[in-house]
Amino acid sequence: MKTLKIAIQKSGRLNEKSVELLKNCGLNFENYKSSLISPVSNFPLEILFLRDDDIPEYVQDGIADLGIVGENMIEETEVEVNYLQRLGFGKCTLKIAIPNNSDITDLSGLNGKAIATSYPAILGKFLTKNNIKSDIRMISGSVEISPGLGLSDAIFDIVSTGGTLKSNGLKPFADVMQSEAILIGNKNIENQDLIQELIDRIQSVLRAKETKYVVLNVSKENLQKVIDLLPGVKSPSVVPLAEGGWVAVHTVIPERDFWGKISQLKQAGAQGIVVMPIEKIIV
Ligand code: ATP
Ligand code: ZN
Repeated sequence: MKTLKIAIQKSGRLNEKSVELLKNCGLNFENYKSSLISPVSNFPLEILFLRDDDIPEYVQDGIADLGIVGENMIEETEVEVNYLQRLGFGKCTLKIAIPNNSDITDLSGLNGKAIATSYPAILGKFLTKNNIKSDIRMISGSVEISPGLGLSDAIFDIVSTGGTLKSNGLKPFADVMQSEAILIGNKNIENQDLIQELIDRIQSVLRAKETKYVVLNVSKENLQKVIDLLPGVKSPSVVPLAEGGWVAVHTVIPERDFWGKISQLKQAGAQGIVVMPIEKIIV
């Protein structure tokens, strides 16, 4: 059987979460920082550790079959690859920012202005869509210092907390793109079965992250009220307790409305609520 190759970031913001995700999929490999390739001992897969900039093209060209990289890099490099799975980490927003004292008040104010960025392709598409002609200046590092140096009137960059903007006298002006890490695949991939197996494993890890396993005790007269609060679950398990008239309910609750649901369950008579992380959910 042909061995698959997956490219992940060697070091940087996506490295740790990418390694963690693959390990949670039950893949055994050494995470040597010094090596470029690490074989997986219990799955026909090799892990290539690369700079994130190189991952989209490696996957497009088939040097790697799969890759984990930010959507921003895929957009910027304009590669032809399959989007296989959003991964829920590495979230960030690409924004245009302007100096606090700028006289630019709306998008059309960017006409004729210089915008510094490491993402000229994404910015170019955004400006064209909005009928704006700016002078895009490609800078590879520390884009945010360029207005202060008189090199540009605005910047376009990844912003997460906004702290870097603030400390450089800049303010957010327009959101252009949301990004997160994504699993991409080569367009002409052959090993479909193996890839599907890997995607299934990744999805089961992601699903587990989104939910918590909850066990609670409730008296039989309040049981229906508790069950009514648990839609989406096919049928919670109900186990009799040694104390007559009481049962334990086992169920899963989505992380996103977790606290709201817990307080509703308490009001409905749930007691002794125990919450546990879930490792995998296989459907
Ligand atoms: P490399 O050495 O691999 O080229 P890099 O310095 O270009 O690394 P990182 O800063 O590690 O890249 O960011 C990798 C990706 O992480 C980004 O392309 C983006 O998708 C995502 N990301 C998430 N949050 C942020 C953030 N606050 N700043 C920068 N990137 C972020
Ligand atoms: Zn990079």
